[in-house]
Amino acid sequence: MKILVTGGAGYVGSVCAEVLLERGHGVVVLDNLSEGHRRAVPAGAAFVEGDLADRQGLDRLFASHRFDAVMHFAALALVEESVRKPGAYLVANVANSIHLLDAMLRHDVGQFIFSSTAAIYGEPEVVPIPEEHRTAPINPYGRTKLAFERILEDCRISAGLCYASLRYFNAAGATPERGEDHRQETHIIPILLQVALGQRPHFEIRGTNYATPDGTCIRDYVHVLDIAEAHVLALDHLERISGWVFNVGSNRGHSVLEALEAARRMTRRSIPAVAAGRRAGDPPVLVASSQKIERELGWRPQYSGLDAIVESAWAWKQKFPQGYEVSPQAAG
Ligand code: UDP
Repeated sequence: MKILVTGGAGYVGSVCAEVLLERGHGVVVLDNLSEGHRRAVPAGAAFVEGDLADRQGLDRLFASHRFDAVMHFAALALVEESVRKPGAYLVANVANSIHLLDAMLRHDVGQFIFSSTAAIYGEPEVVPIPEEHRTAPINPYGRTKLAFERILEDCRISAGLCYASLRYFNAAGATPERGEDHRQETHIIPILLQVALGQRPHFEIRGTNYATPDGTCIRDYVHVLDIAEAHVLALDHLERISGWVFNVGSNRGHSVLEALEAARRMTRRSIPAVAAGRRAGDPPVLVASSQKIERELGWRPQYSGLDAIVESAWAWKQKFPQGYEVSPQAAG
């Protein structure tokens, strides 16, 4: 199949592009490089630098390729930033996503896989969280993703769109060539590894008085390759599962302190840590029930497990200590 991957220069999108190419699909990456890196785009993919706000550019793109499906990763995805800049999140995650949907439907491309998020659940009433759990996001990021899930369902009913929404929990880990490299890093594992390499003086534990066993937030860390596999499986089964949502998580939660210990263990570095205030918009616990994706798609996390995730991220970090832009070894 020929697949348009929006945000394919970003973390999850570039790994998914890598896996799609390995499975013999054709891949065109569309990315505005605001967060993504040109070097993260696999060599086998065609690259188009462009923005989803550019409706004419989207029309040209769909006119010049016969896409079978779209995987939509391009988004703003930082909880705390979304609390400060909700308008930017609405534009990027809702308005621009509508432009994409509109262009694809006008060009008769009817298959769509959406990168959704565990943030749409808000503070869970049941853990692990099943897909039927009520959706009540507590930050603008989650609200924009939920809004677009609802738009997709409207388009399924009105225009016959065939889609699935994958609600990622905490994407983490790396492949040998692709890893997590944000210009302003806020994610726990890359920050821990920056401290391990001496690029930051210490790690800040953001909140130590949550109602969790050790007082720190609990998250479900899922390897980015397992997330990519979920996309491949969803695409294979899309007609049967159209309109469905799936959690992509490992069923297991780890606290911030456990992640810190795993990083110390896997890097064999000391990683100094200090207690710091809570981060705005953070729910205390997010852990997926992965029963539905296992039952319906046969998905099994192959690479997840906190130590294995940190180990793969550490291997990438040692190879690309300054990230993609200034590393001597460019991704191929
Ligand atoms: N976190 C932390 N210190 C940091 C970065 C993150 O304690 O320097 C915590 C954060 O508050 C959250 C968890 O680690 O509870 C995971 O944060 P991350 O930003 O990686 O993912 P999120 O859950 O926000 O998508």
